[in-house]
Amino acid sequence: MSVQTPIRQSATRIIVLGGGFAGIYTARHLQKFFARRTDVEILLVSRDNFLLMTPLLFEVCSGKLEMSACSISIREFLGSVGFAEAMVEAIDLERREVLVSAEGADKRKLPYDHLVLTLGSLTNTSRIEGSELAFTFKTLADAILLRNHIIERMERAEVESDSNVRRRELTFVVIGGGLVGVEVFGELTAFMDEVVRYYPRIRREEIHLHLLQAGERIMPEISEKLADYSTHVLSRRLGVSIRTSTPVERITPGQVHLKNEILEASTIILSAGTTPSPIVAGLRRCAANSAPNYGRLEIAHQYRIRTASPIPSWRSMRCERRRCWPRTFMRRLMTCQCSPSYTRRRELWPLWDATAASRLRWVFRFVDFRHGGFGAAIIF
Ligand SMILES: Cc1cc2nc3c(=O)[nH]c(=O)nc-3n(C[C@H](O)[C@H](O)[C@H](O)COP(=O)(O)OP(=O)(O)OC[C@H]3O[C@@H](n4cnc5c(N)ncnc54)[C@H](O)[C@@H]3O)c2cc1C
Repeated sequence: MSVQTPIRQSATRIIVLGGGFAGIYTARHLQKFFARRTDVEILLVSRDNFLLMTPLLFEVCSGKLEMSACSISIREFLGSVGFAEAMVEAIDLERREVLVSAEGADKRKLPYDHLVLTLGSLTNTSRIEGSELAFTFKTLADAILLRNHIIERMERAEVESDSNVRRRELTFVVIGGGLVGVEVFGELTAFMDEVVRYYPRIRREEIHLHLLQAGERIMPEISEKLADYSTHVLSRRLGVSIRTSTPVERITPGQVHLKNEILEASTIILSAGTTPSPIVAGLRRCAANSAPNYGRLEIAHQYRIRTASPIPSWRSMRCERRRCWPRTFMRRLMTCQCSPSYTRRRELWPLWDATAASRLRWVFRFVDFRHGGFGAAIIF
């Protein structure tokens, strides 16, 4: 299939950018929904032809899992949906074109009728000076690189006699005590327990692992009780130090600078928040230009960019539906809109938006029912 022009000139082309969880599931649901429509073409564009199962990345880093165990072929997963392995360079919202490049090929412009942005995020390297010197932990390449680096540190320490150098080689620092930082940290401690036996000159007590968290507690994403329990479990491991309320001021080669202290470490891993994809941040008309939301898109209902054409009100949608609901139904979907009554269709659940949910709650509050969520959707 040529990705440059739609299969049919009259076809409506929906382009999904990004082959992460959001992208491939959106493409799959659209494919199912438009299965019988030959005039709708769906194309997914992503820089990798596999979906990375990020929750399994830690085990790939520690060698418990093979690389293939945490990646799924996008082509296999999506079946008949069009796929292009390419790098998205820019998006022209005015002309409705996406500029892409692929290895060994010229840059191309892909025209679209509807665009879905699911380009994910990057590790935020703007908060801490010198962040580019640290390892990130987001991609498959990151995990492999880190694994090789850690093993190399062990090899060096094994033959090193200078105690200072040896200590630096065997010190590992994770910056950021969010879910990913803590999980990397936990996996690292277990990995050390595992591999140290292959290095007869290294004692486990010589290996130091530091987790540095700027906030008051680790894993602010989960309940305090659970986070405290995790701290308790991790702290009991050998050579572990977990510090909260410890912001990192800067990173220099082999050093992490804290307020009153410098940690010497050959391995520094950064997991201190994320930042939107630069492609999305580059949509100046729609992306926020000021902190703390820099580069994030402001969206309205149905996850549409706020500056896109306005969505008709719920009232007018109902009137139209009464006149000719199948046509309206399709038209609404083509513009990525849906209402609660459509949610009975399983394929449309992911498209059910917050507005619909809030309207439902309002209706049931009005008639004094204590129902909501899925049950309310069926009744409605
Ligand atoms: C190590 C790790 C573990 C995690 N564990 C969990 C967990 O256990 N549970 C959980 O709920 N969440 C977890 N998360 C978070 C979860 O992975 C993300 O929330 C989720 O991946 C976001 O999905 P997404 O599709 O929006 O973005 P992503 O998964 O980041 O996908 C973005 C896609 O866009 C592509 N892309 C980006 N830029 C371009 C470009 N310029 N051109 C072409 N393609 C591009 C990328 O290749 C990628 O395929 C974890 C994250 C990490 C890093």
